[in-house]
Amino acid sequence: MVVGVLVELSNKNIDKIFDYHVPDHLKEFIKIGIRVEVPFGRQVLDGFVLEIKDTSEIELKDIIKVKDTDIVLNKELLELGKSLSYDTLSTLISCYQVMLPKALKAKINGKSMVKYDTFYKLNNISITDISFNEKQRQMIDLCLEKGLVKREELVNISVSSLNTLLKKEILVKVEKEHYRLEYSSKLVEKKELTLDQRRVVEEVRNSNDFIYLLYGVTGSGKTEVYMELIEEQLSLGKTSIVLVPEISLTPQMVSRFQSRFGNKIAALHSALSDGEKYDEWRRIARGEALIVIGARSAIFAPLQNIGIIIIDEEHSNSYKQSDSNPRYSAIDIAIKRCKYHSCKLILGSATPRLESFARARKGVYHLLELPNRVNGKALPKITIIDLGKELGKSMGHFSRPLINAIKSRIEKDEQVILFLNRRGYSSFITCKNCGYTYKCPNCDITLTYHKSSNTLRCHYCGYGTGKYNICPSCHEESIHDLGFGTEKIEEELKKIVDCRILRMDYDTTSKKGSHEKMIEAFKNHEYDILLGTQIVAKGLDFKDVTLVGVINADTGLNIPDFRSSENTFSLLNQVAGRSGRSEKQGEVIIQTFNKDHYAIKYASFHNYLGFYKEEMDIRKKLKYPPYYYLCYIRMSGKEAEYLLLESGKIKRSLDRNLENTIILGPTPCIMHKINNIYRYGILIKYKKSDNLRNILEKIQDHYKNNSKIKIDIDFNPSQIL
Ligand code: ADP
Ligand code: ZN
Repeated sequence: MVVGVLVELSNKNIDKIFDYHVPDHLKEFIKIGIRVEVPFGRQVLDGFVLEIKDTSEIELKDIIKVKDTDIVLNKELLELGKSLSYDTLSTLISCYQVMLPKALKAKINGKSMVKYDTFYKLNNISITDISFNEKQRQMIDLCLEKGLVKREELVNISVSSLNTLLKKEILVKVEKEHYRLEYSSKLVEKKELTLDQRRVVEEVRNSNDFIYLLYGVTGSGKTEVYMELIEEQLSLGKTSIVLVPEISLTPQMVSRFQSRFGNKIAALHSALSDGEKYDEWRRIARGEALIVIGARSAIFAPLQNIGIIIIDEEHSNSYKQSDSNPRYSAIDIAIKRCKYHSCKLILGSATPRLESFARARKGVYHLLELPNRVNGKALPKITIIDLGKELGKSMGHFSRPLINAIKSRIEKDEQVILFLNRRGYSSFITCKNCGYTYKCPNCDITLTYHKSSNTLRCHYCGYGTGKYNICPSCHEESIHDLGFGTEKIEEELKKIVDCRILRMDYDTTSKKGSHEKMIEAFKNHEYDILLGTQIVAKGLDFKDVTLVGVINADTGLNIPDFRSSENTFSLLNQVAGRSGRSEKQGEVIIQTFNKDHYAIKYASFHNYLGFYKEEMDIRKKLKYPPYYYLCYIRMSGKEAEYLLLESGKIKRSLDRNLENTIILGPTPCIMHKINNIYRYGILIKYKKSDNLRNILEKIQDHYKNNSKIKIDIDFNPSQIL
């Protein structure tokens, strides 16, 4: 027996399938889609078995061992990988690797991650004529009673008496596989659907359409609709996937699904350890978990017999993998999987992507609407505070109206969420005298000040340096902290009101389980104010929150990206949606220097349609999606001059070969230098792609063995950085 094995060669952007001979004793374990260990030069590599053949004409090396008992890549995933590789111009191996949790990727020297529990049981020998001491007798009785006994249950039995029993072969050890996570199977009664929710569910049930866009305001009960649709599939014996952005995959969200579906769910998110992810993956592959809830890569969950796929907050940029190959969109993958399983795809959002809403209006997607909140209350009233006018009258970053509103909630024992938009380039340190800003020497971006360690850090490469008070440029002692991280805001806030503040950002939630505890504590009213970054914007549902304050609405608008207005609009909408979700009427206060910006204006009236129309006009004029498709080509390397030269050649070759397209660049990327690697970009705008993919493939091939230039291709980029 001979197998074709796909391995990953480090640093090489190529696919290689190598043939190996299978020794007789391993034959019975070989299946397509399983991992094997193979000798490769002086290394030992893991690889995926993609082909099985009878013989080979040449002498082959033997595989070393078979790594898995279950198939890692099933037939559907094997095919999916091929089409993903074609669509994104990425290597097949990178496409398979991206589908798998770390523990199942093909690595060098990977160890098995299966976790075992040790049990003891009676051996099958007669013990009637053996005499035991009292402790040993106890232990044997316990085994007789329970069959399998854990070491922990043998409290007063010493190691030596246990060993004696083992040595005499009266007891034997049994290793049993053990999943690291447990879901309670205790369920809560489900909610009676409202008329609106029922209408939506019926509409999906009675239609033969393929893709649905559920456009429902925040708090309209979309999640409840998802669960109803899933339950229906479950009763038909089918499985489901629910994708949510990583940031809204909160313990709250997971526990909502778990209290409805118990241990039928598997949750895949970044807070899990590698071992936990591995176990969840295997529970799914073995058909033990029937509902997968997870972030982007959960779209590859090895479920069989899928009945529905749901993508919540479908506008979220997190569904696009944009930092490494393959640069895929989870929505595109969902469409492929739904086709494969002949099932429906539901995209949900309060602020759909322009592309999706345009498709829904054209009838390409089936539009479903939930225009009202479940609680029957109006959406929270939004007040815009013009920071330009408030300058000099505010305390730190807090305007007077926001201060007053916070104080009045605290008096009434209600809760407040304060949102700080960290995206953008705001948390930097600058010299008041000469304007000098600290930049990362490797990445050409401003450094962020971290108060707790009193250092300046680069968020891209990790470079760090001590903080200086003397400006390195003009030598005045006038370095000034222009940034406002959550730490700084918390300090200011403490001076304004006397209350209990919970700060939640990536620093305070990085420890395992801390996120969960914080949410619990806030829910139990152990705090009055929840202060945080993007992490507090999405998915949270607290009934006592009646005020949401946005400290700075503007930072996202300053990002030079064609989606910056859309992103700002939907972010404000999401944050505002955290207020007044239960009995009490909610209020929102947005502080901004751009009160007349249309994204902020429309957000303040909850006017998605107004925003949609105005933004569509702009996109049309500037030839951006959804009127044009985009493809971004990024050239990177250590020598800027060489890169620019080659980028120019690439651009000219595109000009020669593509018709009816607009080709912009090459220009330095916004992040021009990261970790001493320079980057240039070419942007292609097109309506029909015809030969685009093939031209790009040729360009890629041309540079394949050139180590001075790396070419990344991103179709439908979520951001152009
Ligand atoms: P969305 O996902 O649209 O933001 P949710 O599904 O989170 O909305 O619902 C908002 C709130 O309303 C949640 O607290 C949820 O438990 C509650 N809710 C949803 N549907 C119902 C219902 N049919 N009856 C009672 N409460 C509901
Ligand atoms: Zn850096």
